[in-house]
Amino acid sequence: MISHLRLKAYGKINLGLDVLGRRENGYHDVKMIMQTVGLHDRIELYRKEEPGIAIQSNLFYLPDNEQNLAYKAAKLLMEEFDIHEGLSIHLRKFIPVAAGMAGGSTDAASVLFGVNKMFGLGLSREELMERGVKLGADVPYCILRGTALSEGIGEKLTPLPPMPQCQVLIAKPGISVSTKMVYECLDAMELRKEDHPDIDGMVEAIRQGDLRKVAGKFGNVLELVTAGKYPVIGQIEQVMMEEGAVNAMMSGSGPTVFGLFTSPAAAQRAYESLRFGEASGLAKQVYLTNFFNMKA
Ligand code: ATP
Repeated sequence: MISHLRLKAYGKINLGLDVLGRRENGYHDVKMIMQTVGLHDRIELYRKEEPGIAIQSNLFYLPDNEQNLAYKAAKLLMEEFDIHEGLSIHLRKFIPVAAGMAGGSTDAASVLFGVNKMFGLGLSREELMERGVKLGADVPYCILRGTALSEGIGEKLTPLPPMPQCQVLIAKPGISVSTKMVYECLDAMELRKEDHPDIDGMVEAIRQGDLRKVAGKFGNVLELVTAGKYPVIGQIEQVMMEEGAVNAMMSGSGPTVFGLFTSPAAAQRAYESLRFGEASGLAKQVYLTNFFNMKA
């Protein structure tokens, strides 16, 4: 019997993000290139005798109740499989919160994976993904991991060959951005053809294993909204480019910015500049990581 499990819940960045339209129910049709990164939250699951789910985290402002996506994930499986034992979830967050890195979704994905294992439910990866979409559009991708094309509302996934390895510098400015607000502003905008990134071209470049070509196709239609409101996003990108990034862009609805580097020395310089140096006023959280392509 498994009484304790340690899990790593990895964050994602978007190498490309296009919005194709809005559905009547308010959801948006998207076309995105998803990429898992090494930056992760740590989750520990403990079986407990008394029934019920308990959750605690290292961040006082995160919900420690049903509102937490990790709690919702445990509840979904434990109710379906009529599990009467209890579960205690210990969450240590490292992925920036409300930042466009799918932090909550990846915690939910890891808890689905962990509960399945701990209680021997025997669900396949696909069966976990089917349940994950009920918790959030990005949850199935967080179960799949790696490099993938994401369509529909985010649940139609096509795995792609892994990206060539490089350094990934992540910087989150100290502002909070509501995903809902960003989509509402986008809906009110008249987009031109050239505002849409070339996602098909990026898929082709990924299939060719050409990192520079992929970086040359970077584009995130939501950046029009978020970077328009918050100039700090463009400023962080500029620092990364000046220090030698192959390219830099905003992830998801922001405000996190990432840059790809083929030179570890250049990545380190950019990290130090944003973390301690001249540019240290721009970002509140800065991490140097890489692509993560291993399956759970
Ligand atoms: P996405 O990239 O999917 O838009 P995000 O990075 O914008 O995600 P999250 O970090 O998932 O956003 O957090 C969004 C909100 O969800 C937060 O305001 C937070 O209160 C709530 N939340 C619930 N559970 C969690 C969790 N386990 N981790 C982080 N946030 C959570």
